[in-house]
Formats: sequence, structure tokens, C-alpha cells
Amino acid sequence: MWHLLRQIARTGLVTEPAPKSDDALRVEAGRIHDEILATLGQALTIREVDAGSCNGCELEIHAVNNPYYNLEGLGIRFVASPRHADMLLVTGPVSRHMAEALRRTYDATPAPKLVVAVGDCGCTGGIFGESYASCGRCPAAHRRRSISCAAS
Ligand code: SF4
Repeated sequence: MWHLLRQIARTGLVTEPAPKSDDALRVEAGRIHDEILATLGQALTIREVDAGSCNGCELEIHAVNNPYYNLEGLGIRFVASPRHADMLLVTGPVSRHMAEALRRTYDATPAPKLVVAVGDCGCTGGIFGESYASCGRCPAAHRRRSISCAAS
């Protein structure tokens, strides 16, 4: 224990210093915020749905939520309920056991709604494609129709 604490004290901070603030990024943030308000008339609320991903996409989504990107400052917020969401963010190929849950989440989201597929799996089915276990890509993200398992 003492050995570990001594080592921590001896090593000190090993992270690189924070980058200097960039005024160009503040202008870009203002533009994104204004665009969201002009398009939606309000903040953008997102319900993330893992329809069968390997969790790699979730790691990226978590990363984009860190303070550096200041998503909430731009008017973009993740919510726990589809009833509070403007947009569904779907990761992974739609596994067969998640197809019904995804369809119900879609139905529970008030119209007008956006559906955005994330990653190769959500957009095309990726390396998993369609199989006995997987429905492939997220169909609603492309066709805005109700979600069904095409190859059942
Ligand atoms: S695209 Fe598919 S394989 Fe790649 S990180 Fe996302 S879920 Fe995983």
C-alpha cells in the first residue's frame, strides 16, 4: 500500500497539458447551436439504443459525451426515455432478440422523429449481416418505416 502511494507521489501527473482554447471552435459551437434551434425549434434530445452492438460504438458515444465536446452546451442531450426523445441513435446490427424492443422504442418516440444508425453494423449489418441471430442493418434509419425482421 505505502509502496503504491510512494510511487504515485513520485510519478506525479503524466497526462499532457490541456490544449489552449480556440476561438474558432466557439464560433463553430454557436453555429451548431443556432442550426439545431433553427431546424428543431428546441434542443435535440437523443435516446441511444444498443440493438446488438459489440459495445465499441457505445464507447465512442460515451467519449463524445465528455466535457471536452460540451454537447449539452450545444443543445444536444441524451435522455433515458424514448418518450422524451427527438432522435433514436441505434448501434449494432439489429439482433433478433432486440428487434421487438427496438420497434417498441421507435413506436414510443413521438413524431416527428429521427433515426440515425451508428457504425458499419447499424448502417449495413457490418460483419454480422443477416443470420439466424441477426436482422442486419437498422431499417428505420434508412426508410423511416416500422422495424421488422426482414429475414425471419
Ligand atoms: S460498427 Fe459494429 S463492430 Fe464496429 S464498433 Fe460498432 S457495433 Fe462494434
